[in-house]
Amino acid sequence: MLTTSEIGLIKATVPILREHGVLLTKHFYQRMFDHNPELKHIFNMGNQKNGTQQTALALAVLAYAENIENPSVLLPVLQRIGDKHTSLQISADQYDIVGRHLLASISEVLGEAATEELITAWAKAYGQLADIMINLEKSIYLQKAAVPGAWSGWRKFVIDRKVKESDEISSFYLRPQDGLEVALHQPGQYLSIKVYIPSLDLYQPRQYSISSAPDQHYYRISVKKEAGNQNKEEGTVSNHLHNVLQEGDVLEVSTPAGDFVLNTDQSSPLVLLSGGVGQTPFVSIMDFLSAADQQRQVRWAHACRSENVHAFRDQIKAWDEEHDWFKHIVFYENAAQEDKNIRSGRLDVAEITEMVLIPEADYYLCGPKPFIEKTILDLAALGVDRKKLFFEEFGPQTIHTN
Ligand SMILES: Cc1cc2nc3c(=O)[nH]c(=O)nc-3n(C[C@H](O)[C@H](O)[C@H](O)COP(=O)(O)OP(=O)(O)OC[C@H]3O[C@@H](n4cnc5c(N)ncnc54)[C@H](O)[C@@H]3O)c2cc1C
Repeated sequence: MLTTSEIGLIKATVPILREHGVLLTKHFYQRMFDHNPELKHIFNMGNQKNGTQQTALALAVLAYAENIENPSVLLPVLQRIGDKHTSLQISADQYDIVGRHLLASISEVLGEAATEELITAWAKAYGQLADIMINLEKSIYLQKAAVPGAWSGWRKFVIDRKVKESDEISSFYLRPQDGLEVALHQPGQYLSIKVYIPSLDLYQPRQYSISSAPDQHYYRISVKKEAGNQNKEEGTVSNHLHNVLQEGDVLEVSTPAGDFVLNTDQSSPLVLLSGGVGQTPFVSIMDFLSAADQQRQVRWAHACRSENVHAFRDQIKAWDEEHDWFKHIVFYENAAQEDKNIRSGRLDVAEITEMVLIPEADYYLCGPKPFIEKTILDLAALGVDRKKLFFEEFGPQTIHTN
């Protein structure tokens, strides 16, 4: 238990964390990878390069310091972090390594301001958080192990089929190499995959939402090829999947994870709002609902640059024609032609209130960070209750709605 004076010391670091948190986390990751380079196989080095991981950790440390008297308010966020950690096979002993480098980094970055008392307080605070996470992750590992067909660790999957879905998105049908059953995922969940990248001489993990309905024989993921430009390098794993890996090749996969899932125990209407490749969990949800042919009302508004990058276009149109409980609309930045399902411009929920304002609906959002942030605000302005909003960020958690 932290003493009152230790809590005071932690709270006194809040302004510093708010201003210099990213400086601290950059230093921390650099230090940890210098001393423990084996962890580069576990961490997403792309998120290190583009800085999102450092930002996410800085926000998490700040949130923890701000809520040090009652860290249980952070449980929903910690649950998501725990889900990601378990899908990456993080073990309890790795918390010791992280803790050691984090405390050393606080000392090195704060210099003389890092008194012995402050470091002791942060050591206790970190220990408390590590205990919460280790216990949480232990229970997630146990829950996952109880699902029929689930597995622990990494399991080898063969790329059974590779299918082009649009100019930049391809699907990969993954079947377990051992030929045994796989766990039925909950529509909306993702897989962590691990591939060896020769140019880095590293294994690299990434998450991909499952884009197919639950099936005991295979999973499908649909991956956008992240192009580079003069300001950023091309994406490592997505380009490896698109350019190098072929049908018959093998990659490693951990059991399905994530809490951005369809609430199958309810019959409330659903409003799905997606941008770009953020459509993938909704393809799984729709594939599932379509096969079940239930009567739950579903409205799906999607935005992407153009028809050429709009994956699963024909499938979504077919669902629209087949089911009177399903309606969809898509926004292309410059649509060549508009009709009842196609609009030109950006997705703005205020322009399609007849489609999105449905009593009792649950709202699922997935897409680029600015899209999610704007849509959350726009829905709130339209009076939608934040408790009815669920979202998935395709990267480290940096959006906080409270
Ligand atoms: C829960 C979840 C579900 C996901 N589902 C999907 C999905 O269904 N489909 C999908 O395609 N993706 C999905 N993603 C995203 C996916 O995990 C990867 O992040 C994505 O494929 C990019 O990985 P990469 O290795 O190709 O790019 P990385 O190498 O990781 O690079 C990431 C980005 O950083 C940029 N970058 C690289 N170097 C720099 C630099 N020096 N400075 C600035 N920027 C730089 C790259 O151009 C790229 O845009 C999901 C992510 C999560 C967390």
